[in-house]
Amino acid sequence: MNYDVIIVGAGIAGLHAAMHLPKNLSCLVLCKDQPWECNTFYAQGGVATAVDENDIAFHIKDTLEAGATLCDKDAVEVMSSDSIGVIRDLISKGLKFDRENSGELKYTKEGAHTRSRILHAEGDGTGRVIHSFLIAELKHTLFKNALVTDLLIDENRCYGVSVVTKKGEYNLYANNIILASGGIGSIYEYHTNAHTISGEIHGMAIEHGLSMQDMEFVQFHPTVYVQNSWARKLLLSEALRGEGAYIVDSKNRRFLFDYDKRGELAPRDIISRSIFDYKHKSKEEIYLSFEPFEQSFLKKRFPNIYRNLTSIGFDIPKDKIPISPAFHYSMGGIKTDLDGKVDGMKNLYAIGEVASTRVHGANRLASNSLLEGLVFSRRAARRILEDNYTLKQKNFQICQAQLYKEQDKVLKETLRSIMWKHVGVARDIFGLQSALGGVEVMLQTDIGRMFKLRLLTSAEVIKSAISRKESLGSHYIKKIEI
Ligand SMILES: Cc1cc2nc3c(=O)[nH]c(=O)nc-3n(C[C@H](O)[C@H](O)[C@H](O)COP(=O)(O)OP(=O)(O)OC[C@H]3O[C@@H](n4cnc5c(N)ncnc54)[C@H](O)[C@@H]3O)c2cc1C
Repeated sequence: MNYDVIIVGAGIAGLHAAMHLPKNLSCLVLCKDQPWECNTFYAQGGVATAVDENDIAFHIKDTLEAGATLCDKDAVEVMSSDSIGVIRDLISKGLKFDRENSGELKYTKEGAHTRSRILHAEGDGTGRVIHSFLIAELKHTLFKNALVTDLLIDENRCYGVSVVTKKGEYNLYANNIILASGGIGSIYEYHTNAHTISGEIHGMAIEHGLSMQDMEFVQFHPTVYVQNSWARKLLLSEALRGEGAYIVDSKNRRFLFDYDKRGELAPRDIISRSIFDYKHKSKEEIYLSFEPFEQSFLKKRFPNIYRNLTSIGFDIPKDKIPISPAFHYSMGGIKTDLDGKVDGMKNLYAIGEVASTRVHGANRLASNSLLEGLVFSRRAARRILEDNYTLKQKNFQICQAQLYKEQDKVLKETLRSIMWKHVGVARDIFGLQSALGGVEVMLQTDIGRMFKLRLLTSAEVIKSAISRKESLGSHYIKKIEI
């Protein structure tokens, strides 16, 4: 089957790219499970945007500061300057963000933003609202439960993808391929991500020798309830702290000010490390306190979080919620230019969390990732239309490898525990080397293809972490006590 464009992934990046590709192009969107099983759907806090032309410079400044010197300034400028246009476009198409009683858009503030500039929808339902809107607007074919198992790459061209669906295994071909497959959450024991987000496409990119960038930079969200039994741990959005929730020890002491004068509104990496360090030294449980809130405010502003916590049995705002940092977001990914075109490739694009434009540098500023998905997807779609590239077709063997093997399940747990223990909030060279050894041993054993791809991605994260000797942003090398 031949298409003009194949898009791998039905989150914000994939669906928004599809929105900007005209109906007369044959365009196919693929996702491996149900379309809502993606990180976009679970996003709570909101979308960052420059509030107006005057705010662009300040949004850029905040993003660069959070990124700890590693951001690409051009990429940040593009993201912030394009933000007003993409948001305006979505609103004009009918997307409904929350508004003040006066009818003005309602902005909230999150950590390390110097002003309120985060738009949200249905309180903490931003991701769900945006995702449902993009699905409703989709004018191209969406193929769900279609697992991509390989990229059909030869030299500097991508000819298509191998997929497995209930009809079996086959190849799909296209003139342009967009990778919008999200991040890598499932390689960590504690994470906030949808179960579909496992870094497999990253693994394929590594196999095919595509350039990867900044994979050592992974963001740990500081306020996650990790004591639930599901793989996806319960995120307690940063917007809660933006609105006044605070972090305390068992004696109700707000210890974060010992570490940074911004307290609860410091960047995520600083808060995560402070909690990690304080917990380690004091051996105390750490909590998120909702004391400043009325119950009615919580129910209205954070309806999903309220429902999730009360269904577990918490009585909020009275109860404090035990929290821990957990893996949340991958800053690195497949290296692209500012139109999402993959480094060195003619017709392959990567957008959203799978990509690395260096827009987030060493640490992502809160709510900049939905924005990144919107801005770079539209740019990629426009570039595809501009290039109007036609590929001389070529046939590839269908991927024959066995996808899953018996011992994958047990080894997956081992991998997740290794990554959490040694490649987590605070790292040291001995831990990283032992993690790499563990991953390399697993790569030599009799494993299925999909698990192998996760291992390749994990190895890339670890190798990048080993080669960056100094702490920077979210990559923190702890001093070894001898
Ligand atoms: C709980 C949570 C809350 C968040 N809150 C915010 C927030 O408030 N603001 C913000 O800016 N960011 C937030 N983020 C981050 C943000 O949601 C993500 O970075 C963003 O949604 C990623 O979008 P994406 O389109 O790149 O990928 P996703 O939305 O994750 O979509 C990935 C898609 O790729 C598909 N896929 C993956 N592998 C394959 C394969 N092998 N074959 C076929 N399909 C495949 C999946 O099925 C899925 O459709 C949050 C993240 C989480 C987890």
